[in-house]
Amino acid sequence: MKSCIYCKVDVADESVIDFCDRCGEGVFGRKMLEAIKENMEKAERTGNLNQGSISFSKDTQELKD
Ligand SMILES: [Zn+2]
Repeated sequence: MKSCIYCKVDVADESVIDFCDRCGEGVFGRKMLEAIKENMEKAERTGNLNQGSISFSKDTQELKD
């Protein structure tokens, strides 16, 4: 079990992010958090095929517009 980097609450090992939903929402906002999780999950699925080409910050910026 890993723990939230902000409030140290337990976070599931299989979670793609290192913080709990509540902190993530507090830090990024709900929409941004969803975008980040989506991108991280996508990156995990394609990570083996496209190593080193993942840039979720760019993707999330595009979604913001
Ligand atoms: Zn937390």
